[in-house]
Amino acid sequence: MRFVKRIYLLRTIGLGVGFFCVAAAFVQQPVAWPLWALLVFHGYLWPQVARAWALASRIPYRAERRNLVIDAAFGGFWIAAMQGNLVPSAVILSMLSMDNIAAGGLRLFMRGLYASIAACALGWWLLDAHWSPQSDLPTILACLPMMALYPLALGKSTYEMSKKLAERSRQFEVVSQMDGLTHLFNRRYWESLLIEEFSQRRKAPGAQQKESFLLLLDLDHFKRINDTHGHLVGDEVLRNFAQLLRIHLRKEDLIGRYGGEEFVVILRNIAHADALHLSQRLVERARASQDGVNKLYGCTVSAGLVPFTSDMEAHFVWLQRADHAMYCAKANGRDRLVVWEATLVRNAEPATVC
Ligand code: GH3
Ligand code: MG
Ligand code: MG
Repeated sequence: MRFVKRIYLLRTIGLGVGFFCVAAAFVQQPVAWPLWALLVFHGYLWPQVARAWALASRIPYRAERRNLVIDAAFGGFWIAAMQGNLVPSAVILSMLSMDNIAAGGLRLFMRGLYASIAACALGWWLLDAHWSPQSDLPTILACLPMMALYPLALGKSTYEMSKKLAERSRQFEVVSQMDGLTHLFNRRYWESLLIEEFSQRRKAPGAQQKESFLLLLDLDHFKRINDTHGHLVGDEVLRNFAQLLRIHLRKEDLIGRYGGEEFVVILRNIAHADALHLSQRLVERARASQDGVNKLYGCTVSAGLVPFTSDMEAHFVWLQRADHAMYCAKANGRDRLVVWEATLVRNAEPATVC
Protein backbone atom coordinates (compact mmCIF):
# COMPACT_ATOMS: atom_id res chain seq x y z
CA MET A 1 0.00 0.00 0.00
CA ARG A 2 2.86 2.35 0.84
CA PHE A 3 4.45 1.54 -2.51
CA VAL A 4 1.17 2.38 -4.27
CA LYS A 5 0.91 5.70 -2.43
CA ARG A 6 4.52 6.58 -3.21
CA ILE A 7 4.13 5.79 -6.91
CA TYR A 8 0.80 7.69 -7.01
CA LEU A 9 2.53 10.87 -5.91
CA LEU A 10 5.38 10.42 -8.39
CA ARG A 11 3.00 9.51 -11.21
CA THR A 12 0.80 12.56 -10.54
CA ILE A 13 3.84 14.86 -10.74
CA GLY A 14 5.49 13.05 -13.67
CA LEU A 15 2.42 12.76 -15.86
CA GLY A 16 1.16 16.22 -14.85
CA VAL A 17 4.29 17.90 -16.23
CA GLY A 18 4.91 15.23 -18.90
CA PHE A 19 1.56 16.24 -20.45
CA PHE A 20 3.19 19.50 -21.63
CA CYS A 21 6.06 17.69 -23.46
CA VAL A 22 3.63 15.68 -25.58
CA ALA A 23 1.13 18.54 -25.94
CA ALA A 24 3.88 20.84 -27.31
CA ALA A 25 4.83 18.16 -29.87
CA PHE A 26 1.12 17.85 -30.84
CA VAL A 27 1.00 21.61 -31.37
CA GLN A 28 4.17 21.39 -33.48
CA GLN A 29 2.66 18.56 -35.57
CA PRO A 30 -1.14 18.71 -35.16
CA VAL A 31 -3.02 15.48 -34.38
CA ALA A 32 -6.69 14.41 -34.28
CA TRP A 33 -8.85 15.08 -31.18
CA PRO A 34 -8.97 11.43 -29.94
CA LEU A 35 -5.22 11.63 -29.33
CA TRP A 36 -5.71 14.85 -27.34
CA ALA A 37 -8.46 13.17 -25.34
CA LEU A 38 -6.22 10.18 -24.63
CA LEU A 39 -3.41 12.53 -23.60
CA VAL A 40 -5.66 14.37 -21.12
CA PHE A 41 -6.84 11.04 -19.74
CA HIS A 42 -3.28 9.75 -19.33
CA GLY A 43 -1.96 12.99 -17.86
CA TYR A 44 -4.66 13.72 -15.32
CA LEU A 45 -7.03 10.77 -14.84
CA TRP A 46 -4.78 7.72 -15.17
CA PRO A 47 -2.96 8.37 -11.84
CA GLN A 48 -6.33 8.16 -10.02
CA VAL A 49 -7.42 5.08 -12.00
CA ALA A 50 -4.06 3.33 -11.46
CA ARG A 51 -4.12 3.95 -7.71
CA ALA A 52 -7.72 2.74 -7.30
CA TRP A 53 -6.97 -0.31 -9.44
CA ALA A 54 -3.86 -1.23 -7.45
CA LEU A 55 -5.52 -0.68 -4.06
CA ALA A 56 -8.50 -2.81 -5.07
CA SER A 57 -6.32 -5.73 -6.11
CA ARG A 58 -5.30 -8.60 -3.85
CA ILE A 59 -1.58 -7.72 -3.95
CA PRO A 60 -1.35 -3.92 -4.45
CA TYR A 61 2.45 -4.04 -4.86
CA ARG A 62 2.25 -6.46 -7.76
CA ALA A 63 -0.63 -4.53 -9.36
CA GLU A 64 1.38 -1.32 -9.14
CA ARG A 65 4.31 -2.95 -10.93
CA ARG A 66 1.87 -3.90 -13.69
CA ASN A 67 0.71 -0.25 -13.78
CA LEU A 68 4.33 0.83 -14.24
CA VAL A 69 4.59 -1.43 -17.28
CA ILE A 70 1.38 0.18 -18.61
CA ASP A 71 3.02 3.59 -18.04
CA ALA A 72 5.96 2.44 -20.15
CA ALA A 73 3.55 1.26 -22.89
CA PHE A 74 1.84 4.66 -22.86
CA GLY A 75 5.28 6.27 -23.18
CA GLY A 76 6.07 4.17 -26.27
CA PHE A 77 2.71 5.04 -27.77
CA TRP A 78 3.32 8.80 -27.27
CA ILE A 79 6.66 8.51 -29.05
CA ALA A 80 4.83 7.09 -32.07
CA ALA A 81 2.07 9.72 -31.80
CA MET A 82 4.76 12.45 -31.77
CA GLN A 83 6.35 10.77 -34.83
CA GLY A 84 9.64 10.41 -32.99
CA ASN A 85 9.93 14.11 -32.02
CA LEU A 86 13.39 13.74 -30.53
CA VAL A 87 13.55 15.86 -27.36
CA PRO A 88 10.18 14.87 -25.78
CA SER A 89 10.73 11.23 -26.84
CA ALA A 90 14.15 11.13 -25.18
CA VAL A 91 12.83 12.83 -22.03
CA ILE A 92 9.85 10.45 -21.75
CA LEU A 93 12.04 7.37 -22.30
CA SER A 94 14.66 8.42 -19.77
CA MET A 95 12.09 9.34 -17.08
CA LEU A 96 10.25 6.03 -17.57
CA SER A 97 13.49 4.07 -17.38
CA MET A 98 14.51 5.93 -14.20
CA ASP A 99 11.13 5.12 -12.67
CA ASN A 100 11.16 1.46 -13.51
CA ILE A 101 14.71 0.79 -12.47
CA ALA A 102 14.12 2.62 -9.16
CA ALA A 103 10.90 0.72 -8.46
CA GLY A 104 11.77 -2.77 -9.65
CA GLY A 105 15.41 -3.00 -10.71
CA LEU A 106 16.67 -4.35 -14.03
CA ARG A 107 13.79 -6.79 -14.42
CA LEU A 108 11.06 -4.15 -14.35
CA PHE A 109 13.21 -1.87 -16.49
CA MET A 110 13.46 -4.57 -19.18
CA ARG A 111 9.73 -5.34 -19.00
CA GLY A 112 9.04 -1.62 -19.35
CA LEU A 113 11.40 -1.36 -22.28
CA TYR A 114 9.73 -4.24 -24.12
CA ALA A 115 6.29 -2.66 -23.43
CA SER A 116 7.52 0.71 -24.76
CA ILE A 117 8.94 -0.84 -27.94
CA ALA A 118 5.79 -2.91 -28.57
CA ALA A 119 3.41 0.03 -27.95
CA CYS A 120 5.58 2.32 -30.09
CA ALA A 121 5.50 -0.18 -32.99
CA LEU A 122 1.73 -0.67 -32.61
CA GLY A 123 1.12 3.11 -32.46
CA TRP A 124 3.37 3.69 -35.44
CA TRP A 125 1.38 1.19 -37.45
CA LEU A 126 -2.08 2.37 -36.25
CA LEU A 127 -1.37 6.05 -36.79
CA ASP A 128 0.64 5.51 -39.94
CA ALA A 129 3.35 7.75 -38.46
CA HIS A 130 6.27 9.25 -40.39
CA TRP A 131 9.68 9.71 -38.86
CA SER A 132 9.95 13.41 -37.96
CA PRO A 133 12.55 13.92 -35.24
CA GLN A 134 12.99 17.75 -35.32
CA SER A 135 11.97 19.51 -32.09
CA ASP A 136 11.12 23.21 -32.28
CA LEU A 137 11.99 25.65 -29.50
CA PRO A 138 8.54 25.68 -27.78
CA THR A 139 8.61 21.87 -27.62
CA ILE A 140 12.09 21.91 -26.08
CA LEU A 141 10.99 24.57 -23.57
CA ALA A 142 7.88 22.55 -22.67
CA CYS A 143 10.15 19.59 -21.78
CA LEU A 144 12.21 21.60 -19.27
CA PRO A 145 9.78 21.33 -16.28
CA MET A 146 9.73 17.54 -16.70
CA MET A 147 13.54 17.37 -16.81
CA ALA A 148 13.90 19.59 -13.75
CA LEU A 149 10.99 18.51 -11.56
CA TYR A 150 10.67 14.78 -11.98
CA PRO A 151 14.23 13.75 -11.00
CA LEU A 152 13.90 15.99 -7.94
CA ALA A 153 10.64 14.34 -6.91
CA LEU A 154 12.03 10.84 -7.47
CA GLY A 155 15.27 11.67 -5.62
CA LYS A 156 13.40 13.07 -2.63
CA SER A 157 11.07 10.10 -2.46
CA THR A 158 14.01 7.63 -2.69
CA TYR A 159 15.93 9.51 -0.01
CA GLU A 160 12.96 9.48 2.38
CA MET A 161 12.45 5.79 1.78
CA SER A 162 16.08 4.95 2.50
CA LYS A 163 15.93 7.08 5.67
CA LYS A 164 12.89 5.14 6.86
CA LEU A 165 14.60 1.88 5.98
CA ALA A 166 17.69 2.81 8.00
CA GLU A 167 15.50 3.70 10.99
CA ARG A 168 13.60 0.39 10.67
CA SER A 169 16.79 -1.64 10.51
CA ARG A 170 18.09 0.19 13.61
CA GLN A 171 14.86 -0.63 15.48
CA PHE A 172 15.04 -4.20 14.28
CA GLU A 173 18.61 -4.49 15.52
CA VAL A 174 17.60 -3.28 19.01
CA VAL A 175 14.64 -5.67 19.13
CA SER A 176 16.76 -8.61 17.96
CA GLN A 177 19.16 -8.03 20.86
CA MET A 178 16.50 -7.89 23.52
CA ASP A 179 14.58 -10.33 25.63
CA GLY A 180 10.89 -9.57 25.10
CA LEU A 181 9.76 -10.08 28.70
CA THR A 182 12.46 -8.37 30.74
CA HIS A 183 13.95 -6.04 28.11
CA LEU A 184 17.41 -7.19 29.11
CA PHE A 185 19.84 -8.51 26.46
CA ASN A 186 18.75 -11.89 25.18
CA ARG A 187 20.98 -14.91 25.49
CA ARG A 188 22.32 -14.85 21.92
CA TYR A 189 23.32 -11.20 21.97
CA TRP A 190 24.61 -11.31 25.54
CA GLU A 191 26.80 -14.30 24.66
CA SER A 192 28.32 -12.33 21.79
CA LEU A 193 29.19 -9.60 24.33
CA LEU A 194 30.76 -12.21 26.58
CA ILE A 195 32.88 -13.53 23.70
CA GLU A 196 33.99 -9.98 22.93
CA GLU A 197 34.89 -9.25 26.56
CA PHE A 198 36.69 -12.58 26.80
CA SER A 199 38.78 -12.04 23.67
CA GLN A 200 39.65 -8.48 24.68
CA ARG A 201 40.83 -9.69 28.06
CA ARG A 202 42.81 -12.51 26.41
CA LYS A 203 44.46 -10.20 23.88
CA ALA A 204 45.56 -7.55 26.34
CA PRO A 205 45.37 -8.93 29.87
CA GLY A 206 46.88 -5.81 31.43
CA ALA A 207 45.10 -3.21 29.29
CA GLN A 208 42.51 -2.45 31.94
CA GLN A 209 43.63 -1.73 35.48
CA LYS A 210 40.75 -3.62 37.03
CA GLU A 211 39.21 -7.04 36.47
CA SER A 212 36.18 -8.48 34.73
CA PHE A 213 33.72 -10.80 36.41
CA LEU A 214 30.93 -13.04 35.32
CA LEU A 215 27.91 -13.26 37.61
CA LEU A 216 25.21 -15.89 37.15
CA LEU A 217 21.97 -15.54 39.13
CA ASP A 218 19.18 -18.10 39.40
CA LEU A 219 15.89 -17.48 41.21
CA ASP A 220 15.26 -20.00 43.97
CA HIS A 221 12.27 -22.31 43.78
CA PHE A 222 10.82 -20.18 41.02
CA LYS A 223 8.67 -23.02 39.81
CA ARG A 224 6.69 -22.75 43.04
CA ILE A 225 5.70 -19.17 42.11
CA ASN A 226 4.22 -20.42 38.85
CA ASP A 227 2.56 -23.34 40.59
CA THR A 228 1.10 -21.24 43.42
CA HIS A 229 0.31 -17.88 41.78
CA GLY A 230 0.22 -18.73 38.08
CA HIS A 231 2.45 -17.86 35.13
CA LEU A 232 1.43 -14.21 34.97
CA VAL A 233 2.75 -13.61 38.46
CA GLY A 234 5.84 -15.65 37.49
CA ASP A 235 6.38 -13.27 34.60
CA GLU A 236 5.94 -10.30 36.93
CA VAL A 237 8.60 -11.70 39.25
CA LEU A 238 11.01 -12.07 36.31
CA ARG A 239 10.35 -8.46 35.23
CA ASN A 240 10.73 -7.19 38.81
CA PHE A 241 13.99 -9.03 39.25
CA ALA A 242 15.28 -7.59 35.96
CA GLN A 243 14.37 -4.13 37.24
CA LEU A 244 16.21 -4.84 40.50
CA LEU A 245 19.32 -5.73 38.48
CA ARG A 246 19.05 -2.55 36.40
CA ILE A 247 18.67 -0.40 39.52
CA HIS A 248 21.53 -1.88 41.52
CA LEU A 249 24.13 -2.57 38.85
CA ARG A 250 26.39 -0.01 37.18
CA LYS A 251 25.83 1.48 33.73
CA GLU A 252 28.77 -0.41 32.23
CA ASP A 253 27.57 -3.82 33.45
CA LEU A 254 26.09 -5.99 30.69
CA ILE A 255 22.95 -7.70 31.95
CA GLY A 256 21.25 -10.54 30.07
CA ARG A 257 18.51 -13.09 30.55
CA TYR A 258 20.26 -16.39 30.00
CA GLY A 259 17.22 -18.66 30.19
CA GLY A 260 13.89 -18.99 32.04
CA GLU A 261 14.79 -17.66 35.51
CA GLU A 262 18.55 -17.40 35.00
CA PHE A 263 20.23 -14.05 34.61
CA VAL A 264 23.82 -13.22 33.74
CA VAL A 265 25.95 -10.14 34.17
CA ILE A 266 29.39 -9.17 32.88
CA LEU A 267 30.89 -6.84 35.45
CA ARG A 268 33.53 -4.96 33.49
CA ASN A 269 36.58 -3.18 34.76
CA ILE A 270 35.84 -3.54 38.46
CA ALA A 271 37.96 -4.11 41.55
CA HIS A 272 37.68 -7.51 43.19
CA ALA A 273 36.21 -6.11 46.40
CA ASP A 274 33.64 -4.02 44.51
CA ALA A 275 32.48 -6.98 42.38
CA LEU A 276 32.02 -9.01 45.55
CA HIS A 277 30.17 -6.21 47.30
CA LEU A 278 27.90 -5.52 44.31
CA SER A 279 27.00 -9.20 43.87
CA GLN A 280 26.42 -9.72 47.55
CA ARG A 281 24.17 -6.66 47.63
CA LEU A 282 22.04 -8.06 44.78
CA VAL A 283 21.38 -11.24 46.75
CA GLU A 284 20.46 -9.16 49.79
CA ARG A 285 18.24 -6.78 47.81
CA ALA A 286 16.36 -9.73 46.31
CA ARG A 287 15.82 -11.16 49.79
CA ALA A 288 14.56 -7.77 50.99
CA SER A 289 12.25 -7.20 47.99
CA GLN A 290 9.33 -9.31 49.09
CA ASP A 291 6.88 -6.40 49.40
CA GLY A 292 6.46 -3.08 47.71
CA VAL A 293 6.62 -2.12 44.07
CA ASN A 294 9.11 -4.61 42.64
CA LYS A 295 8.23 -7.53 44.88
CA LEU A 296 9.49 -11.03 44.24
CA TYR A 297 6.71 -13.02 45.98
CA GLY A 298 9.09 -14.79 48.33
CA CYS A 299 11.74 -15.60 45.72
CA THR A 300 15.37 -15.35 46.70
CA VAL A 301 18.39 -15.75 44.45
CA SER A 302 21.46 -17.97 44.28
CA ALA A 303 24.49 -16.51 42.54
CA GLY A 304 27.91 -17.58 41.29
CA LEU A 305 30.68 -15.06 40.70
CA VAL A 306 33.83 -15.79 38.65
CA PRO A 307 36.74 -13.48 37.83
CA PHE A 308 38.33 -13.64 34.39
CA THR A 309 41.59 -15.56 34.52
CA SER A 310 43.92 -16.09 31.59
CA ASP A 311 44.00 -19.87 32.09
CA MET A 312 40.48 -20.18 30.64
CA GLU A 313 40.73 -21.50 27.06
CA ALA A 314 37.35 -20.23 25.90
CA HIS A 315 34.43 -18.11 27.02
CA PHE A 316 32.32 -21.14 27.84
CA VAL A 317 34.81 -22.16 30.52
CA TRP A 318 33.97 -18.85 32.17
CA LEU A 319 30.28 -19.74 31.94
CA GLN A 320 30.86 -23.27 33.22
CA ARG A 321 32.67 -21.91 36.26
CA ALA A 322 29.85 -19.46 36.97
CA ASP A 323 27.34 -22.28 36.64
CA HIS A 324 29.38 -24.38 39.01
CA ALA A 325 29.66 -21.61 41.61
CA MET A 326 25.90 -21.00 41.35
CA TYR A 327 25.23 -24.70 41.77
CA CYS A 328 27.29 -24.60 44.98
CA ALA A 329 25.15 -21.71 46.22
CA LYS A 330 22.07 -23.89 45.59
CA ALA A 331 23.61 -26.91 47.25
CA ASN A 332 24.57 -24.89 50.31
CA GLY A 333 21.01 -23.80 51.00
CA ARG A 334 20.26 -21.19 48.26
CA ASP A 335 19.81 -17.43 48.86
CA ARG A 336 23.54 -16.81 48.75
CA LEU A 337 26.57 -15.88 46.69
CA VAL A 338 29.45 -18.26 46.00
CA VAL A 339 32.67 -16.99 44.51
CA TRP A 340 34.36 -19.50 42.24
CA GLU A 341 37.68 -20.95 43.36
CA ALA A 342 39.88 -23.57 41.72
CA THR A 343 39.19 -25.96 44.58
CA LEU A 344 35.48 -25.95 43.72
CA VAL A 345 36.23 -27.44 40.33
CA ARG A 346 38.79 -30.04 41.10
CA ASN A 347 36.13 -32.49 42.27
CA ALA A 348 34.14 -33.64 39.29
CA GLU A 349 31.11 -34.78 41.29
CA PRO A 350 29.07 -31.72 42.19
CA ALA A 351 27.62 -33.41 45.26
CA THR A 352 31.08 -33.67 46.82
CA VAL A 353 32.15 -30.22 45.78
CA CYS A 354 30.06 -27.84 47.76
P1 GH3 B 1 15.85 -23.95 41.79
O1 GH3 B 1 15.77 -23.24 43.08
O2 GH3 B 1 16.57 -25.25 41.91
O3 GH3 B 1 16.44 -23.11 40.72
O4 GH3 B 1 14.37 -24.30 41.38
P2 GH3 B 1 13.46 -23.58 40.32
O5 GH3 B 1 12.06 -23.95 40.59
O6 GH3 B 1 13.77 -22.13 40.31
O7 GH3 B 1 14.01 -24.17 38.95
P3 GH3 B 1 13.35 -25.09 37.87
O8 GH3 B 1 14.37 -25.23 36.78
O9 GH3 B 1 12.83 -26.36 38.48
O10 GH3 B 1 12.10 -24.29 37.33
C1 GH3 B 1 12.22 -23.14 36.59
C2 GH3 B 1 10.83 -22.77 36.13
O11 GH3 B 1 10.83 -21.52 35.44
C3 GH3 B 1 10.22 -23.76 35.19
C4 GH3 B 1 9.59 -22.95 34.09
O12 GH3 B 1 8.26 -23.29 33.88
C5 GH3 B 1 9.68 -21.52 34.61
N1 GH3 B 1 9.85 -20.53 33.57
C6 GH3 B 1 10.81 -20.48 32.60
N2 GH3 B 1 10.64 -19.39 31.82
C7 GH3 B 1 9.55 -18.74 32.28
C8 GH3 B 1 8.87 -17.55 31.89
O13 GH3 B 1 9.22 -16.86 30.95
N3 GH3 B 1 7.77 -17.18 32.63
C9 GH3 B 1 7.33 -17.92 33.69
N4 GH3 B 1 6.26 -17.50 34.37
N5 GH3 B 1 7.94 -19.05 34.06
C10 GH3 B 1 9.03 -19.45 33.39
MG1 MG C 1 15.72 -21.50 39.74
MG1 MG D 1 17.36 -22.43 36.60
